[in-house]
Amino acid sequence: MLISQDIKLDFDDVLIVPQRTTLESRKEVVLERNFKFYHSPRIWTGIPIVCSNMVPLTTKEMALRLSKFKMITALHKYYDANELVNILNEAGVDYAWISIGKSYDDIEKLKIVSEKLGKNPNIVIDVPNGYMESFVKFCKDVRNTFNDSIICAGNVTTPEICEELIIHGGVDICKIQIGPGQFCQTRMVTGVGYGTFSCVNECGHAAHGLKTEAGRLGLIMSDGGCRTSGDVCKAICGGADFLMLGTLFSGTDPCEGEWEYEYRCAIVNNDREVVNEWWQPNDPGYDPPEKRKKSLKFYGMSSHYAQQKHGEGKKTYRASEGKVEKVPYKGPVEDIVQEILGGLRSCGTYIGAKYLKDFNKCAKFVRINRK
Ligand code: 5GP
Repeated sequence: MLISQDIKLDFDDVLIVPQRTTLESRKEVVLERNFKFYHSPRIWTGIPIVCSNMVPLTTKEMALRLSKFKMITALHKYYDANELVNILNEAGVDYAWISIGKSYDDIEKLKIVSEKLGKNPNIVIDVPNGYMESFVKFCKDVRNTFNDSIICAGNVTTPEICEELIIHGGVDICKIQIGPGQFCQTRMVTGVGYGTFSCVNECGHAAHGLKTEAGRLGLIMSDGGCRTSGDVCKAICGGADFLMLGTLFSGTDPCEGEWEYEYRCAIVNNDREVVNEWWQPNDPGYDPPEKRKKSLKFYGMSSHYAQQKHGEGKKTYRASEGKVEKVPYKGPVEDIVQEILGGLRSCGTYIGAKYLKDFNKCAKFVRINRK
């Protein structure tokens, strides 16, 4: 039996070491980047953070709000062609990307979108297990149909398959990580996974080692497992070109789904002054009611709940690989974005990196004792 003795690290196992810097302020750090791609002739400019295609997150409103920061929303798979065209027209092809599974019906849907839009969309081909042999061929078929689209595909977690998807699958950005998502249970249910940080490091190294004659590199998108802006910094410093986030954006204002509210109750004295007030889960029946969001039911896309809710039905041969839990209301998504971008800017000043593309070069890591 082969057991690799090389220890694989998670984001928690490392810290970024501060370096001498000429930067005087976080304001100087530039988070916008330009990307060229291995296959697509497009040039993309923006902040390479992507809202995950989990259904409660990728509302039209989310795409519009994140596009203001030049960030990407990977629209979920359950929109029909007309809805997609409508969102792409408003949020822009650069910042609203379309997720599909490994189905030829999805290619047909994309063709309709493309025709109505007058332009090919950018595409995220998203399957839980990107190791199936048929996946490389499917990606190649998507590339042959949409030759100028930016194509991101995964998930995989090891460097060799990244190279294969990029070279033979026509993929520009290989989407990596299996199992670390906060609503994912793959590690628990199947025992499959890899260290999050090592995955970024090794896959980034492999993808960046691929270069076209025109000097365009293979790229990676790290997907899942970032619980804090510190993890975001570690992923970018570790070699992620793009970063997909799910739970960090959950419970924010443009999310849609089963919100739980709480209601204001008050006791007033004879002069109508409030003497006591509190918030409670039951509607006291005031007219008009004063209510606020308390929590949102959030779920992994491989949970039985998601399969049932989105029409795939619970299949007896499949275990649920996703959780269902309430997440607290966090306020507008802009607040979370500012926290993440603030963390990245501060990280840039700690390591002396003025531009996001330099984070990987400037960062040095240390392994730490976790406990
Ligand atoms: P997070 O940022 O929440 O840690 O991770 C988000 C990522 O988790 C998603 O982009 C997706 O790749 C993954 N994910 C979402 N739902 C599920 C699920 O039900 N099962 C698994 N295995 N992964 C999921």
